[in-house]
Amino acid sequence: MTDFDATRAAFHLPADTVYMNGNSLGPLPIAAQSRVADCIKNEWGTMLITAWNKAGWMQQPKKIGNRLARLIGGADGSVVAGDTLSIKVFQALAAALSLAQPGRVRILSDTGNFPTDLYMAQGLVDALGKGLCIDCVAPDAVADALDETVAVLMLTHVDYRTGRMHDMAALTAAAQAKGIVVIWDLAHSIGALDLDLAACGAELAIGCTYKFLNAGPGAPAFIYVRPDLSDQIKPVLSGWLGHASPFSFEQTYTPGMGIDRMRVGTPAILQMAALDAALDVWDSVDLADLRAASVSLSERLIQAIAATCPELILASPKEPSMRGSQVCFSHPEGYAIMQALIAHGIIGDFRAPNIIRFGITPLFQSARDMDHVAKTLGTIMKNRLWDEPKFKVRAHVT
Ligand SMILES: *Cc1c(COP(=O)(O)O)cnc(C)c1O
Repeated sequence: MTDFDATRAAFHLPADTVYMNGNSLGPLPIAAQSRVADCIKNEWGTMLITAWNKAGWMQQPKKIGNRLARLIGGADGSVVAGDTLSIKVFQALAAALSLAQPGRVRILSDTGNFPTDLYMAQGLVDALGKGLCIDCVAPDAVADALDETVAVLMLTHVDYRTGRMHDMAALTAAAQAKGIVVIWDLAHSIGALDLDLAACGAELAIGCTYKFLNAGPGAPAFIYVRPDLSDQIKPVLSGWLGHASPFSFEQTYTPGMGIDRMRVGTPAILQMAALDAALDVWDSVDLADLRAASVSLSERLIQAIAATCPELILASPKEPSMRGSQVCFSHPEGYAIMQALIAHGIIGDFRAPNIIRFGITPLFQSARDMDHVAKTLGTIMKNRLWDEPKFKVRAHVT
C-alpha cells in the first residue's frame, strides 16, 4: 500500500494553505531544492562543460524518459523528455502525419481540447500546405466521427476544464480499426491515473511534468512513440541532438535511432534536475492506490460541496470512471468566488467562462482538506463573501 503520509511529507506546503491546484502547477518537492542546488554548485559550478559527460547531462532526457515511461505504462526507451508540451504537440502531430494513410486529409480532435494543442496543429497544417484540415467535434461525438477519411485522431485524455475523461483504450481501438493514427495528450493524466499505454497501443502520446508530477514551472515535456514505430517516423523538428551522430557535425540530417530522434536541442538541465527529484516521490507510489485515493477524495469533495453550496453546479462527470483527477463546478460568479476562496487560504483556479476548478492530488491532500474546502466554500457562498470589487478584478493569469 502506498503511504500517503510519507508522500505528503515529501512536499513543501505553506502553512495555513490547502493546495487544490496540483493539476496545474504541482507544489515543490522538498528534494528538488537540494537537487537543483547541487546541480548548480557541484555540476555546473565545478565541472563546467565536462558535466555533459561527467554528470551524465546528455543522457538525462532518456534516463528521465524511462522514469516517465513507467508512469504511463510504456516500455523502456519509448519516452524522451524535453521542450514544452506545445512543441511536443507539433512534433507528435507531424510524426503521426508521416505514418498516416496516404490521401487522408482530416485531423480529428474535440472541442474540449486545450487551445494550444489546436493552435499548434493549425500552425503545422498551415506550414505543410497540403490541404489538411482540423475537425473538432463534441467530445461525445468523437467515436461516431471516426471514418476512413481521418488521418490522425488527436485528443487530450482528460478535459482541462471539466475533468471529463475519454475511454482511451476503446477510442484507440476504434480509430485504429479504421486505419487512423492516434495521439493522446496526457497532460492531465500522467501522475493522476493508472495508465497502460502499451496495452492501449496508441502510436504516440505527449504530456507535461509540471502538473501532477510536480516538476516545477517550465519543467520539460515528454513524448512517447510506440517502440515498433520509432525508427520509422520522420522528425519534423530535426534538431542536432536528434541526429544519429550529433558530434560528427555533419552538414545533413540523419535521424537517430529509436526515441532519440524525438530530441531537438540542448536539454534544460536545471529543470531536468528538478524533474528527476520530483520523480523520486513516485518510486513509492502504486498508481492503482493513487487512483483509488483520488476517487475517494473526489467523491468526498463533491458530496460535501453539494451539501454546503447547493447553488454550485457540478461541471464534472458524476460517474468517477468518466472523470480524471479534478472536480469542477460552474457559477456565473466563479472568478470572484475563487478569489475569495484563495483569500481564505484555499488555492484552486478558475477557467473561463464560469468554471471553479479543484485538482485532486492524493500525494499531499487528505480527506480533512476536502471537508475544509467544502466548509469554507459554504461560508463564502452563504455570506456572499465573494461579492467585493477586489475579487472581481481579473489578473493576467487566472
Ligand atoms: C497544460 C497543457 C498544455 C500546456 O502546454 P505548454 O507548452 O506546457 O505551455 C498543453 N496541452 C494541454 C492539454 C495541457 O493541459
